[in-house]
Order: sequence, then structure tokens, then C-alpha cells
Amino acid sequence: MSLQVRQQVSLKPYNSFGVDVQARLFAEAHSDADVRDALAYARDHDVPLLVIGGGSNLLLTADVSSLVLRMATRGVRVLSDDGSKVVLEAEAGEPWHPFVQYTLAQGLSGLENLSLIPGTVGAAPMQNIGAYGVEIKDVFAGLTALDRHSGELRDFSLEECDFAYRDSVFKQQPGRWLILRVRFTLDRTAHLHLEYGPVRQRLTEQGIDQPTATDVSQAICSIRNEKLPDPAVLGNAGSFFKNPLVPAALVAQLKGEYPDLVAYAQPDGQMKLAAGWLIERAGWKGFRENDAGVHKLQALVLVNYGGATGLQLLDLAQRIQKDISERFHVNLEMEPNQY
Ligand code: FAD
Ligand code: NAP
Repeated sequence: MSLQVRQQVSLKPYNSFGVDVQARLFAEAHSDADVRDALAYARDHDVPLLVIGGGSNLLLTADVSSLVLRMATRGVRVLSDDGSKVVLEAEAGEPWHPFVQYTLAQGLSGLENLSLIPGTVGAAPMQNIGAYGVEIKDVFAGLTALDRHSGELRDFSLEECDFAYRDSVFKQQPGRWLILRVRFTLDRTAHLHLEYGPVRQRLTEQGIDQPTATDVSQAICSIRNEKLPDPAVLGNAGSFFKNPLVPAALVAQLKGEYPDLVAYAQPDGQMKLAAGWLIERAGWKGFRENDAGVHKLQALVLVNYGGATGLQLLDLAQRIQKDISERFHVNLEMEPNQY
């Protein structure tokens, strides 16, 4: 067995909140064989297996008794190229943003709006990562996953992934599918999405009126760098709550009391509320208790000033949920995966 299993490993460097908990057992997978070894080890030693990538969407509230397997597989390959569309396949452990930059350097468009999202390729389908009006489902060409129940490989098409807002079949069936590699259809001709948030405005400020996909990526990176805390400096897991989808009637009622309420119409007739707006309006922006807090520039992001525990962050999140429910009659759902 090539897999190296270590005991009592701090997970602090492996979660972007920087929460200091111990994994009883820890290993890194550099190949499919390592993944199979880890499954066999977990079965033989009767321990659960927790698969992680970059740890940027985790809330760890206690020491982990599982075997934690960090996906570190690497590789990107071209599967097809008809001169216009290119299908690329990337291994699960590829870091996401460098992969996006690689595609742009190859003259391929499609992932530019998803620039600077932390984490790995393999975790991206878990919650159908999205930003600035694009989700991976928009460029998704398929993936290969290991069924942890049967040990068999399975290819998933777009339809079979059941992608929705921050959701997928993989998130719905926790612990069942281990994603090994993901395929994307990218385009040699850019079809840019600029109408979301301040993207077009930022490009205009830079004097760019005919942007390339790389221009869009750079504009998004600059917007994100201004607003979002860098996990290497201030622990966080990005947005801590999903934007709630609510009936239009509730929005109409809330608008009576809060005329500046931020809500976006959805194709199915529901409305999406900006959870950050609700949390800010409730007065939580910049709140801090011990080392757990709400970011000063973006109320949707909970932060760890250094020594916060996962339970302190969870307690803060639950207090925010209760307050938002009482004030606005809206339930906020947590986005990070809690262990
Ligand atoms: P992890 O946190 O390691 O794991 C997340 C979940 O996926 C866990 O349940 C884990 O068990 C599972 N998992 C991981 N790898 C695999 C695998 N190979 N097979 C099966 N299961 C697996 N998200 C967005 O959608 N949009 C954003 O714009 C965005 N911005 C962010 C900004 C910041 C500053 C931060 C810290 C986070 C942000 N996120 C965003 C959240 C996060 O980056 C993404 O969800 C990312 O895809 C998580 O990847 P990861 O490798 O870190 O996953
Ligand atoms: P923002 O631009 O301040 O916008 C606030 C919210 O309004 C966003 O959550 C976004 O919803 C929504 N929104 C803005 N313009 C919209 C439009 N034209 N149509 C529909 N909805 C619109 O948000 P931000 O916090 O700076 O984040 C920018 C983008 O990066 C967003 O897409 C956000 O989802 C993504 N992001 C995600 C995470 C994460 O961890 N999940 C972290 C940071 C940033 P949506 O969130 O549904 O897009």
C-alpha cells in the first residue's frame, strides 16, 4: 500500500477557517490507487472516511475520529478539440483558481467568472460553485466518481448531477460519491457574462470596453480582493449562509417595512433575498465576540480572528439565524459542510 496514514494530525492548515482540531487519522491521495487504499484502510480499521479538498467550505466543530483523506491528485488533459469547443478533464485535487488561470492562458473561456474561488476541482460540483451569474453547471461536461457503497466507478452526465443553487446529487447524498475527475466544455470564442454585480462597471473604470475573458477574470479578482477576506490572513469559509429563496408575497410584505430590501426574481416565480443585506440590516456586520465575528466588509462572511473554535462560530451562526428568523421571517441555511 502506497498510502501514508498519519496519526493525530492538526487540521488547522487544512481548513480555511483555521480551526484547530485534530484528525485521528490523516492521509493524502495522489492517485486513484491511494483513494482505493484509503477506502480499504477505513473498511479494515472500521473508521469512517472524510474526503476533503482545500477545506474552504468546512466547519469543523470537534476533533475528527474519521480517516481524513485530502485529495491531492493532479493532472489536466484535453479530451476533445473541434477548433471551437474544447473538453478538458481535471483531476479532483487540482487547485481551482490555478486551473481557471490555466484555461484562460490556453485561450479558453467559460470559467472566468469563477475566478479566485478557493478549493479544488473535485469539490466544485459538490455545491455547483457559482459567482457573478455563472455556475459550473453552465460549462459542465461530466465527471467520474467512485461509488463508496459498491466500489465501482460511475460517470455522471449533467442531468444526473441534479445541479441547483449551491446544490447537487453529491451534496444530497453525503459520503456516497468520491469525485475523482471533472470535465468541462470550454469555448475558444468568449461569451461573456458581465451583467452581474459591479463587473461591467469595474471594466469601464479600467477603460476596457471590449473585454477578453482574461480581462473579466482580472476584474473579478480585483473586486473579490477588495471585499472578501483572504483566508491566509483571516480565517473564513466564504459565504456562511445561502441566499434564501422565498415566496414573492413575503418580499412584497417585507418591502413595506424595508423599501431598500435586496431581492432578485427567479425563473420559477420565487425571489432570492441577499442574505448579506438581511444580516447587515439586523446590525451584525462587524460584530465580534472572542475570536468569532462577522466580516466588516461583507456580512455574509463569518470570520475567525485566530483562536475561535468551530463551536463558537456555530453558536454565532445560530444566533444570527434566530435573529433573522424573528425579524424577517426568513430561515437562513448554512452553506459550509459541518463535521
Ligand atoms: P472542501 O471544503 O474541502 O470540501 C467541501 C465538501 O466537499 C465537503 O463536504 C467534502 O467532504 C466534499 N468533498 C471535497 N472534495 C471531494 C471529492 N473529491 N469528492 C467528494 N466529496 C468531496 N463557493 C462558491 O460557490 N462561490 C464562491 O464565489 C465562493 N467564494 C469563496 C470565497 C472564499 C474566500 C472562501 C473561503 C470560500 C468560497 N466559496 C465559494 C466556498 C468554497 O471555496 C467552495 O465551495 C469550494 O468548491 C470548496 O472546495 P474545497 O476543495 O475547499 O472543498
Ligand atoms: P454582491 O455582488 O454584493 O451581491 C449580493 C448578492 O446579490 C449576491 O449574493 C448575489 O447572489 C446577488 N446578486 C447580485 N447581483 C445579482 C444579479 N444581477 N442577479 C441575481 N442576483 C444578484 O455579492 P458578493 O458577496 O460580493 O459576491 C459576489 C459573487 O461571488 C456572488 O455571486 C456570490 O455568490 C459569490 N461568492 C460566493 C461565496 C461563497 O462562499 N459561496 C463567497 C464569496 C462570493 P448569488 O450569491 O446568488 O450570486
